[in-house]
Amino acid sequence: MNQPKYITMNGELVPYADAKVHVLTPTVKYGALVFEGLRAYWNSEHEQLYVVKLPEHLARFHATIKAMRFDASYTDEELVETVVSTLRANEVRSDVHLRLAAYVEGTALYNSRGPISLMCAAYGRGSGPIEDKAVAAGVVSWRRISDSSMPPRLKVAANYHNARLGSIEAETNGYDEAIFLTQQGHVAEGAGSCLMMVRDGVLVTPTRTDGILESITRQAILDIALTLGIPTEERSIDRTELYFASEAFFCGTGVEIAPVTSIDRLEIGDGTVGQVTRKLWARYEANARGTGEEASDWCTTVYDGDGVTD
Ligand code: PMP
Repeated sequence: MNQPKYITMNGELVPYADAKVHVLTPTVKYGALVFEGLRAYWNSEHEQLYVVKLPEHLARFHATIKAMRFDASYTDEELVETVVSTLRANEVRSDVHLRLAAYVEGTALYNSRGPISLMCAAYGRGSGPIEDKAVAAGVVSWRRISDSSMPPRLKVAANYHNARLGSIEAETNGYDEAIFLTQQGHVAEGAGSCLMMVRDGVLVTPTRTDGILESITRQAILDIALTLGIPTEERSIDRTELYFASEAFFCGTGVEIAPVTSIDRLEIGDGTVGQVTRKLWARYEANARGTGEEASDWCTTVYDGDGVTD
């Protein structure tokens, strides 16, 4: 990780070394932390940094804070200010990943609703050619957490214990990435990304009630597919359908689009990056760097007063 100079904590810029949380907080004890993972892309021609899909991330952040019954409510303006001022204070002029989090302070038990703190940090995370992101995936024996016990829809730190178990199993078995099935045995998602496949020319992805995080990238890719004339379907997927797919990829803010060239050691398509995947990535990248057709809907600018705050 590229260490940031400053992290924003409750509106203050705090030097990296001082950005601490007590070991007895519910955040540390129970993973009582709601977060968003965002990305900002630097466009050197525009001399501009673009935060991708910021309003969508903030909407999910508000919804999760509500569902977790955290004793906090933030306005969009203050959250945008937190994100933008963190990037400006660190003079970011490169591609970064951002973490925006609300977390439970104090020393109470798991049912405490506050006090809540807010933090934001940005750290270097580059982007590269799509070929470099290809992975071998394996279906793991750990099932995806379910809405009736630990809702995957909520982007909460504690949920990532499930991701951890599955990822370690996948790694142990020689895979790059894990694919989780739901409690009912349908395909859900990856450890930190959604999954899509192409079957018979249709881009297919599990529904929002199939044990997934309601991914912003997933929706963005479905929207791009629509504009490119690629048919899409949101439906439950059987494990063996993955083996019949001509293309598959993980998608998420962090992983962007990561082609899956094999699943359970069976080649997907011809085992290389497929044409649909390439087309979707080309538009995704252009939009994220402020040049694609939908860029104005996707990007919040950070510098030059063109942006949302001064
Ligand atoms: N599923 C899980 C479990 C994730 O952690 C992520 C990454 N936040 C995603 C899907 C992708 O979500 P998004 O596109 O909103 O980043």
